[in-house]
Amino acid sequence: MYKYLREDVKKLKPYQVNEIKYKIKLDANEGIDWMDGLNKYPDDTCKSLREKLGERLNRKPSEILIGNGSSELIGYIMNAYLEIGETVLSIWPTFSMYEIYTIINKGKYRKFPLKDMVDLDVTAFIDLAKESKAKLVIISNPNNPTGTVISMEDIRRIISSLDAMVILDEAYIEFSDLPIEDYTREFENLIVLRTFSKAMALAGIRLGYMIAHENTIDCVNRIRSPYNVNTLTQDVGIKALDKHEEIDKNIEMVKSERERIRSYMESKGYRPLPSQGNFLFFKGTKDLGSKLANKGVLIRGFGGELEGYYRLTIGTVEENNGFIKGFEEVLNETEQSY
Ligand SMILES: *Cc1c(COP(=O)(O)O)cnc(C)c1O
Repeated sequence: MYKYLREDVKKLKPYQVNEIKYKIKLDANEGIDWMDGLNKYPDDTCKSLREKLGERLNRKPSEILIGNGSSELIGYIMNAYLEIGETVLSIWPTFSMYEIYTIINKGKYRKFPLKDMVDLDVTAFIDLAKESKAKLVIISNPNNPTGTVISMEDIRRIISSLDAMVILDEAYIEFSDLPIEDYTREFENLIVLRTFSKAMALAGIRLGYMIAHENTIDCVNRIRSPYNVNTLTQDVGIKALDKHEEIDKNIEMVKSERERIRSYMESKGYRPLPSQGNFLFFKGTKDLGSKLANKGVLIRGFGGELEGYYRLTIGTVEENNGFIKGFEEVLNETEQSY
């Protein structure tokens, strides 16, 4: 949406790369090929990947923008839209990068606490967005690190009530019961972010994308670094989109393992939140994380107000059994020490 674009960015035009057919290419100071044609700069706009994704998502390539991970796109969206001192509103707890990117962009970050870390009071959230004149509202759905979801009905109410860009970060959508279609044609102020890092299990290639109205794509393209997604990543991304069966099988495995580990945790008196991501969030003892780490089992602990809370990623059956074994040992040792 052009309406919210930063004033100084309005004067910028997207970086244009020559796409003229050639016999001899001596226009970009590229070196001489010695390894698989990688001497050439990547396709700047990721045309083939956007076309392939567009088919999958039922969207035009012009409604898609590719990033070096979706994290890069969060930064780009703020670069394009956020003026100094303007407010970015999100829920709490959530993905810590939202606050970091806001600070980098000299914005003001406001967090609206979820009730018992699960439920969102939508009316109060909308009120705070209006009162703080939020320019950007960003919601991780399912939410990291809680794994909880906000219903699409509530999300739609937020988008339609606000005079702001709403960024829906759907990094974990494939593990959830949320509808997979996006509402970017219905709402011009909506940006949907997706990633290859989680359900597609390709965090190592750094690949994410945004779906939005083509005017929004044009806005973000004005500040995007040229050639932001490398050739190897584009190639692997295109190939991965043809391997849906394998990925779907993994997603189903993770979902059933998530419920198995939840039952196990509950049998031990822990209460993981109802998660629709590939992880469980629960309260433990302060030293649980370090005790598990001593046994070579890493789970994610948090500091500050989330001290004592943990996020456990669901892995393979063997990895999860390894977690259970380590966890049992920690529990037994704790009992003995009394
Ligand atoms: C993992 C994650 C991302 C994505 O990261 P990439 O940069 O695409 O690897 C984005 N948002 C949330 C909430 C995440 O948990």
